[in-house]
Amino acid sequence: MNKTPGTSGLILDEPLLWEKGKPGRHAMSIPSSDVPAAPMDESLLGAEVDFPDLSEVDVVRHYTRLSQWNFGVDTGMYPLGSCTMKYNPKINEKHAATPAFAAAHPMLGDTHIQGVLQIMYELQHFLAEITGLDAVSLQPAAGAHGELTGMLIFHKYHTSHNSRRSKILIPDTAHGTNPASAALCGYKAIPVKSNARGMLDKNDVAALMDEDTAGIMLTNPNTLGLFEQQIREIADIVHAKGGLVYGDGANMNAVLGVVDAKKCGIDVLHLNLHKTFSTPHGGGGPGAGPVCVTKDLEQFLPVPRAVKEGDTYRLMTDQSQSIGRVHGFHGNFGVLIRAYSYILSMGAKGLNMASQLAVLNANYIRAHLKDTFHLAYETPCMHECVFSDKNQHDYKVSTLDIAKRLIDYGFHPPTIYFPLVVPGAIMIEPTETECKDDLDQFIATMKRIAHEAEHQPELLHNAPSRCKVKRLDEVTAARCPCLIGTAQADD
Ligand SMILES: *Cc1c(COP(=O)(O)O)cnc(C)c1O
Repeated sequence: MNKTPGTSGLILDEPLLWEKGKPGRHAMSIPSSDVPAAPMDESLLGAEVDFPDLSEVDVVRHYTRLSQWNFGVDTGMYPLGSCTMKYNPKINEKHAATPAFAAAHPMLGDTHIQGVLQIMYELQHFLAEITGLDAVSLQPAAGAHGELTGMLIFHKYHTSHNSRRSKILIPDTAHGTNPASAALCGYKAIPVKSNARGMLDKNDVAALMDEDTAGIMLTNPNTLGLFEQQIREIADIVHAKGGLVYGDGANMNAVLGVVDAKKCGIDVLHLNLHKTFSTPHGGGGPGAGPVCVTKDLEQFLPVPRAVKEGDTYRLMTDQSQSIGRVHGFHGNFGVLIRAYSYILSMGAKGLNMASQLAVLNANYIRAHLKDTFHLAYETPCMHECVFSDKNQHDYKVSTLDIAKRLIDYGFHPPTIYFPLVVPGAIMIEPTETECKDDLDQFIATMKRIAHEAEHQPELLHNAPSRCKVKRLDEVTAARCPCLIGTAQADD
């Protein structure tokens, strides 16, 4: 076996299907016609139809080869920070594909889908248990959608208290979706600076919090991978002025079974089932961002929700204070099945262990690379660690060069240049599913790249050099994208 990490196998030059097709090729055998030929009405096909003629094997090889140019968590480590690109056990996919679930029609009445409703009901219960909060809506389709739902709940809560508030506090380490969701709901986002230790300071929150402010949106652990230690005091300050606390729970992978959101003072929190709970993400597939709330806010949750009455389950829509529907039918049900299956197969202890390993793995990388790459913050991290390219500045090597060189060694690059508070950030989230051997290989590769930066910086400037697509001119790629693909040079 080749011990050098990397993707140096046979890389075929794949033409477009139109360049590959030959008139007369086809992918199926049809018996010869026993009726007279009739002229075809070309207008039925619409203007300018131009299908290539191809055999079955042409098509299969074409798409299989294209798929091999891709990179996924099934082919290697994918250490994107603040994204939790972890490996998801295949058993959860299998359950989601069970015909009884996959084919359940969304228009079926409650009596015909008791099993489906039971799963939704129990999942609501599990997510409440995991977060420490009281009630859950499974409707939102993504993290950002959960945030918008949360903001609508904030708004409804304040109007029900005869209060109109126009602002919301958002730390400078927040995910970009936070201010966007708040703005979509009509709130003005007021940034709160994190301190020199990468955390929120309660005094900064106190200075900004007033009675025109609906509340605060914060992420814990934050997007630097650090736990906001003053969260309880900050929540008390916000509550004292009549505000609410939104917790962005996209980083829950670090704290399952460790942190109780309600005890932290959080009123509304969304989870990313497509980060923490076994739905693969990236590529724009369906997700789910369930919203969990305290008892006081339960009445505002979107409908429908699954409820249990005696031994039967029903979808409850009669909730007069509800903000209304935020998604059609049952939400993204396939994603809910994966989460349910994941939670049951892991158990409470297993979920807790996953978080402990996620944190251990990030700290293992942090400890092994801190003498090679500049560490943005000295404190131990949670699920991700943030380095920068400061130590490589002298060699005129940047974060982008380091990330591109990782591709040559067969690793997906980590998140770069985010969060914005760390110039040249390299944000690594290994997740719990990488074993020590793989972490060691990643660490060795990062060290090798640092060595190259010092002695052969041109290797980094020209990276990636071993894969199909070489270093792109990023500005041209963004401004003048070549969507037909023929211009891709193969040098
Ligand atoms: C991913 C993420 C979001 C947004 O979730 P989407 O499902 O992509 O909308 C919000 N906040 C944080 C911290 C995230 O990591």
